[in-house]
Amino acid sequence: MSAVVQLENVHKSFGTLKVLDGVSFEVGRGEVTAIIGRSGSGKSTALRCIDRLEKVDQGRIRVCGHEVSDARLDLRQLRRDVGIVFQSYNLFPHLTAAENIALAPRHARGKTRAEAKEITERVLAQVGLSDKAHSYPEQLSGGQQQRVAIARSLAMEPQVMLFDEVTSALDPQLTGEVLKVMADLAAGGMTMVLVTHEMAFARNVADTTIFMHRGRVWEQGGREMFDRPQTAELKQFFGNGL
Ligand code: ADP
Ligand code: MG
Repeated sequence: MSAVVQLENVHKSFGTLKVLDGVSFEVGRGEVTAIIGRSGSGKSTALRCIDRLEKVDQGRIRVCGHEVSDARLDLRQLRRDVGIVFQSYNLFPHLTAAENIALAPRHARGKTRAEAKEITERVLAQVGLSDKAHSYPEQLSGGQQQRVAIARSLAMEPQVMLFDEVTSALDPQLTGEVLKVMADLAAGGMTMVLVTHEMAFARNVADTTIFMHRGRVWEQGGREMFDRPQTAELKQFFGNGL
């Protein structure tokens, strides 16, 4: 079976700054891959390349059968299959949670009002916010707003979900509720690639964790990688004794 997400020797520079230096990895259907590493190691850029928010200079990316690195890529088709959630939720402040969520299926997927309503109710339940459908963003906590943003992405019925440090802006007590939603999604079989600082989450939920360093996949593995890091750089990243 072919991978849902596949990067092959991906290179990317911004001007003279080499940010991705031959990155390769694969994510199978239903698998969760976490990307960890220091600030500036290229994690977000790798994620953004998967959704074609950045174009690669060299190498190949395939996602759900789409040739992402091909100039003839149909961006609309790709974006239907890939959901992406960022640190900042960017909800429309003048729309309720339900209205924010219903926009995508209505406009991007051409669903009827009734279909969009059904999808909205389903994804709100999925993130545990059925009772907040009619709340405006300012009436919600940061954690709840981020869950609405995740629900909005799920409403597109994506094949793959990408998460870029979605809990980094949240207070520690709100982080847990967002991680729980992500863990539930993973348990439900969603294919996911997430950049995170939450090491316990990566260790417990991800099938594979990729440690990026200087634009490269420096080390990757399962749970054992957290217990027995091989490279000096990963040992240092985890901190002595962690
Ligand atoms: P990470 O997510 O691991 O912190 P990024 O992928 O965001 O790293 O960034 C890697 C490097 O590329 C950083 O030095 C960053 O400043 C730089 N960079 C990222 N995006 C751009 C851009 N659009 N233009 C110029 N430099 C960028
Ligand atoms: Mg980043």
